[in-house]
Amino acid sequence: GARVDWARVRADFPLLRRTVHGKPLVYLDSANTGQKPAPVIEAVDAFYRRHNANVSRAVHALGTEATEAYEAARTALAGLVNVRGDELVLCSGTTFAINLVAYSWALPRLKAGDVILVTRMEHHANIVPWQLVAERTGAVVRPVDPTPDGALDLDTLYRAMTPEVKLLAVTHVSNVLGTVNPVREICREARRRGIATVVDGSQAVPHMTVDVAAIGCDFYAFTGHKMCGPTGTGALWGRREHLQAMPPFLGGGEMIREVSFDGTVFNDPPHRFEAGTPNIAGFAGLRAAVDYLQGVGMDAIHAREAELLAHLTDALDAAGGVRILGRAPEKAAVVSFLVDGAHAHDLATLLDLEGVAVRSGQHCAHPLLQFYGVAATCRASVAFYNTHEEIDAFVAALQKVRRLLA
Ligand code: PMP
Repeated sequence: GARVDWARVRADFPLLRRTVHGKPLVYLDSANTGQKPAPVIEAVDAFYRRHNANVSRAVHALGTEATEAYEAARTALAGLVNVRGDELVLCSGTTFAINLVAYSWALPRLKAGDVILVTRMEHHANIVPWQLVAERTGAVVRPVDPTPDGALDLDTLYRAMTPEVKLLAVTHVSNVLGTVNPVREICREARRRGIATVVDGSQAVPHMTVDVAAIGCDFYAFTGHKMCGPTGTGALWGRREHLQAMPPFLGGGEMIREVSFDGTVFNDPPHRFEAGTPNIAGFAGLRAAVDYLQGVGMDAIHAREAELLAHLTDALDAAGGVRILGRAPEKAAVVSFLVDGAHAHDLATLLDLEGVAVRSGQHCAHPLLQFYGVAATCRASVAFYNTHEEIDAFVAALQKVRRLLA
């Protein structure tokens, strides 16, 4: 394919030109939230300047334009992950998406003795909703441990798929370890055993070509703000037969066909699950984000980030006294690390003074860090708009601040 001019791509991100504490910003926290290119910012701005109205409620021109902008986002997102638009519920993000599955699909189906299988590398958003369902149904949440390298051992996982397991919740890419899980294979094995699958795609969709139809899961959740889109946007894909069988999660306007006190008739999916006024401007921005990512090319983005990851990993290994948590062979550009003799929060605080933004703490994954016996890590996460120079600047800053802490 055509070579991408990465300097030009980076120049599309206005925020990356700013300084922090008088130093050029080195933003290495894209696993937390991604930065936005100008076309996304402009799409949100243009929506409010020229098209703002509510969706589906008005026959006037602006109402039609707003509805078209919102539905165009659905179509674009569906195209990006290779699903049908009428099976894609638009929502505020992965957290909402997984809760929707928990309350509308799992809660009415699970009973005492059933097992919800999760991996220990899940984000809290893919643990806590299942615990809430388990509490109310008498089901049990059973975790599957990763290997010391941070991968899933498939034999162990398959052995845990006992007849009581009704649902498997698994992340496509770990936000702490960077591990890319073989979700296609995993979902095939679950399906053979009659186990429904929920895949958390938060950290996958921004970084690689994702073909949800090929994965063969039952539900796939992802979030807009990590894929160059606005905060408060995201989507849940669900198999049509599931969505049609699911009762609404939230009641209100937009999700009904007819309301009377004799009984209310709900709208068809996906609208049945989209009560209330959505983040229309946000979805106008997310549609622009999808166009932007596709313009650069998901395969090009994946290759670029793999190069940056290799550079980052080599530089940290060469620095000495740095332990990287997560060395799975299939890895996205997320590097959690510990530095001998330095606390993660102290490192992150001093790195900030050098202009470097990394996350420190437990990354919404307490069970995972407990499993590895660490209280907190620093996490440097890279996106395609980062540069090799930034990685060198980060490692130089790290060497400087650890001397201060020594
Ligand atoms: N799952 C994973 C793997 C994540 O990294 C995140 C965001 N940190 C979430 C779920 C939650 O996403 P959101 O806050 O956008 O709902």
